Amino acid sequence: MTEGIVIKAVGNLYTVRTVNKELVNCFIKGNLRIKGLKSTNPVTVGDKVYFKMKENSDKGQIIKVADRKNYVIRKSTNLSKQYHIIAANVDQAILVVSVTEPETPTEFIDRYLVACEAYRIPAIIIFNKFDLYKNELLNLYQHIRNIYESIGYKCLETSVTENFHIADFRNLLSNKISVLNGYSGVGKSSLIKAIAPDFDIKIGEISDYHKMGMHTTSYSEMYEIFENSFIIDTPGIKGFGLVDIEKNELFHFFPEIFKLSTNCKYYNCTHVHEPGCAVIEAVRNHEIALSRYNSYINIYFDENEKYRYS
Ligand code: GDP
Ligand code: ZN
Repeated sequence: MTEGIVIKAVGNLYTVRTVNKELVNCFIKGNLRIKGLKSTNPVTVGDKVYFKMKENSDKGQIIKVADRKNYVIRKSTNLSKQYHIIAANVDQAILVVSVTEPETPTEFIDRYLVACEAYRIPAIIIFNKFDLYKNELLNLYQHIRNIYESIGYKCLETSVTENFHIADFRNLLSNKISVLNGYSGVGKSSLIKAIAPDFDIKIGEISDYHKMGMHTTSYSEMYEIFENSFIIDTPGIKGFGLVDIEKNELFHFFPEIFKLSTNCKYYNCTHVHEPGCAVIEAVRNHEIALSRYNSYINIYFDENEKYRYS
């Protein structure tokens, strides 16, 4: 058996990259099943698989899929109970934000982070366009960054135009499988271009392109932007924040709220109105940022959009 990583999945055909960087087209063995998850596709990009070459063929047959450390899923349709796995074994989720041109609302950031927590994917926040942060904008940036850093999220400020911290950004992506998200116009493509000049695809367009006319065939791909460093940009990844979370579990995905919730008077406290709620008390004392608590409340009472972040 040969070991490899799935870097592309089109319908039932998988491109597997071996440790020696060979690309082998593979099918799945008919009876291959993944335990515990009702999904429409058993294998996805990021999966570590084991395959055997078919006799007299240049194609392989995937026999085994290694346990996943995490995966991103979406419902295959709104009504269905079945899931489609978009990506597996993601090392980190990078959210590119800015306090200007365009400004990223903190609630957008919070919804994204909730998804990262739910998927158990470490999140990193990149504050791009740092060259534009002057006066009040600089204060605003410092205030917001402080909130996320004190919760424990890694942050980095960058400027593509001034080539500021671009090497640090490259180091963050090095030897990792990353997903990259953020408002349109914050500089995702510019950042990728700055660290990988040969990689000439606009992030986000890849997924838009493949969405057209591909309703029947599922498609996902990850791109090696430089040596052993991958970006997943694939249909569905834009809806990354769309996770099903039980209302009463939502606070588990706000780490600072979760930490304090053990001090609440009632074990089933929702942190919305209860007397003796340690979370509400902490918001009053500014130990928990008001913007974070507001996001919690807004997501909690969000009925229509099931925690969609964009
Ligand atoms: P995307 O939609 O997130 O991929 O954003 P783009 O990479 O297409 O960038 C949108 C616009 O912002 C372009 O005009 C870029 O030149 C500009 N831009 C990107 N990074 C920076 C930056 O660090 N500073 C400034 N001032 N402009 C930037
Ligand atoms: Zn409480």
